[in-house]
Amino acid sequence: MSDRHGTLSVVGIGPGADQQTTPAALAAIAEADLIVGYTTYIRLVRHLIEGKQVVKTGMTEEIGRARAAVEHARAGGKVAIISSGDAGVYGMAGLVFQVLRDLGWKRGESPELRLVPGITALSSCASLVGAPLGHDFCAISLSDLLTPWPVIVRRLEAAAQADFVVGLYNPASGRRQRQIVEAQSILRRHREGSTPVALVKSAYRKLEEVILSDLDSFLDYEIGMLTTVLVGSTSTFMFEGYMVTPRGYSNKYTFEGDVLAGQRPGYSLVDNAGPSGEEIG
Ligand code: SAH
Repeated sequence: MSDRHGTLSVVGIGPGADQQTTPAALAAIAEADLIVGYTTYIRLVRHLIEGKQVVKTGMTEEIGRARAAVEHARAGGKVAIISSGDAGVYGMAGLVFQVLRDLGWKRGESPELRLVPGITALSSCASLVGAPLGHDFCAISLSDLLTPWPVIVRRLEAAAQADFVVGLYNPASGRRQRQIVEAQSILRRHREGSTPVALVKSAYRKLEEVILSDLDSFLDYEIGMLTTVLVGSTSTFMFEGYMVTPRGYSNKYTFEGDVLAGQRPGYSLVDNAGPSGEEIG
């Protein structure tokens, strides 16, 4: 190892289109001499990285890729390791830390770490369908490649029961189709079949596709690796083709701006709400 001080930027590039990549992410990519990432993501930024050294690999070589990135940066290189969306959300950031820990790296040593946030699929996909994340929501990945399926089932159950809007990452792939079917039946036990569900594929990319459906019918459509599934809570509604999860304004105010009887602005809601916490009974 040389004593040159390297930098390792862990960069979320957003969903795909340049306009959805932050200026900070673009700067981190511009400053790097080595870019590391999945082939698909490298392709999304290829016009930004001409003349740079690139390490691209397939899905199953993540550990090797993270190691290569860390070692090059440690030896004084300027490295950007890229993930789609946000690198900290089902991305490379966690793995980078595990590799650093394994190497015995300490803060202040080379490489200097920079974590650059990006627009995660939940946000980019939500923007294409309305305001589905307007109240409490959670993200669950249906990939059981690295997480045991019973753990995922437990989280689906808990989210369904607690009435979270649920964003499903990695819902299915060519080989993996069973999980989304089971997820549907778990959620259906706690919510009406008419609950809005959005399928957003390749948000802000060339083959973008948005389908609005409901909990009973969304499995009629193709769902794959590039899809994010957004399942509404019991208060989510459709309006003019938009999927909306309201905050509790209508528990406290009329839309003429009056305060409802028994409520006070700036104070905790007096609980006369229905089971969803949205509709007044
Ligand atoms: N780090 C990424 C998530 C990687 S996991 C992020 O923060 O967005 C991969 C999953 O993310 C995919 O299976 C899909 O569910 C979702 N995803 C990523 N990019 C997407 C896009 N442009 N459109 C729709 N879903 C996307």
